[in-house]
Amino acid sequence: MNRKPLKDFEFWFLVGSQFLYGPETLQKVAEHAQIMASNLNDAKMIPCKVVYKATVKTTDEITKWVKEANYDDNCAGIITWMHTFSPSKMWINGLELLQKPYCHLHTQFNRNIPDKEIDMDFMNLNQSAHGDREHGFISARMQMKRKIVVGYWEDEDVQQSLGRWMRSAVGAVESRNLKVVRFGDNMRNVAVTEGDKVGAQMQLGWQVNTWGVGDLINELEAVTEAEVDAQVKIYAQLYEFATDDMETVRYQAREEVAMKKFLDREGAQAFTNTFEDLQQMRQLPGLASQDLMLQGYGYGGEGDWKVSAMTSLIKRMTENMGGGTAFMEDYTYDLEKGKELSLGAHMLEVCPSLSDKKAKIEIHELGIGGREPPARLVFEGHPGNAIVASLVDMGGRLRLIVQDIEVVKPIYKMPNLPVARVMWKPAPDLKTGAHLWILAGGAHHSTLSYDADAQMLEDWCEIMGVEFVHISKQSSVEGMKQQLFLSDLAWKLR
Ligand code: MN
Repeated sequence: MNRKPLKDFEFWFLVGSQFLYGPETLQKVAEHAQIMASNLNDAKMIPCKVVYKATVKTTDEITKWVKEANYDDNCAGIITWMHTFSPSKMWINGLELLQKPYCHLHTQFNRNIPDKEIDMDFMNLNQSAHGDREHGFISARMQMKRKIVVGYWEDEDVQQSLGRWMRSAVGAVESRNLKVVRFGDNMRNVAVTEGDKVGAQMQLGWQVNTWGVGDLINELEAVTEAEVDAQVKIYAQLYEFATDDMETVRYQAREEVAMKKFLDREGAQAFTNTFEDLQQMRQLPGLASQDLMLQGYGYGGEGDWKVSAMTSLIKRMTENMGGGTAFMEDYTYDLEKGKELSLGAHMLEVCPSLSDKKAKIEIHELGIGGREPPARLVFEGHPGNAIVASLVDMGGRLRLIVQDIEVVKPIYKMPNLPVARVMWKPAPDLKTGAHLWILAGGAHHSTLSYDADAQMLEDWCEIMGVEFVHISKQSSVEGMKQQLFLSDLAWKLR
């Protein structure tokens, strides 16, 4: 998959001021803004470029920069900051046109008040505390979707919030370019994997389209032995072979090469399939889908295009963070009183990015769908804090449910379980957590990520206009009922 590196996305730093202060002050404002942009660029928490564009002083200037930001494909958002006072009626015309994600960074150039030196000149130059309030008012009045980051710009927590918001903003921009290839339709009779594809394209930009499985089979038949050899070599570098049946492994390699060519030709970053619609394919893609996910492609089983798209986007937002993100499914529980755990897996397709060891290639019967036993990767998800996220179509609106989880080392060996497995404790505890998930309508499919957190996905939801539900250690059934009731009313009023 050919993707622009995250560092090539730009965030345009627009600093507000006015002519009242004279050229000397404006010169200082510009110098400070340049230093800030340059230092932020070097900060390890900042994944993209911060580009100082201008100190803006008039309605026309602001409007011009917003129009350019909207138009520029590299620009993933704007960051505003009022070093001095910037009368915010000047911002109305520009903000009215803004189509890119928007962050208001409430900070100041100096950390401390210089006790001896402070005089009225200093006060006139360093007045974000009141300039940013004027700016905040106009965004509140205009009901702008915005991120507010507050604190000293050199502090790690401020850079971390800003950096993580940038990732959400890239997710929003990439959402508008996302294409999902569906090999066949959804699994019959399942409700939660359905949804309004026209609505999703209008709101999120997703192009979700179906191809007949025959088209993929034509692609499979065209794969050469040399291409299969090359793919098997890659498997040998990444994984451990726990089988001698190379014929079966080679068939998965053939499927991977075919699917990858298909997706890349369509410019797609995500795909679905279903065991109910394989036609003449001899195996359900297992290893093939898992290795594609490791490269960043989204996947959803049983035709679940929403989870496939979300997996692709979350992988994009968390690029280079290193923890791992995968398509996941709640399978079964261990209900030992007080130590309740959930076991997540899928019939085959969990991304090996969740493993901190080499995954093993194994071959087992599938027990469903009546095909040849497919090769798949078997591994354990590593311990750590993570989230599971599920996007559901509530009819007229989309809701993203995000639950905090703690992944633990599986407490059993489970030697006869032939699939990748992840064991976790959902927040606030399994009983309440499962209750809340069911109350909110969360699917059995989800995206599990060690890198994304609830805040990053909430920011993405705010930009995209998606309802957001967070299940955390503070959540209760009573509180959630109230939230869902009020949220339902609010969404009906929109
Ligand atoms: Mn499934």
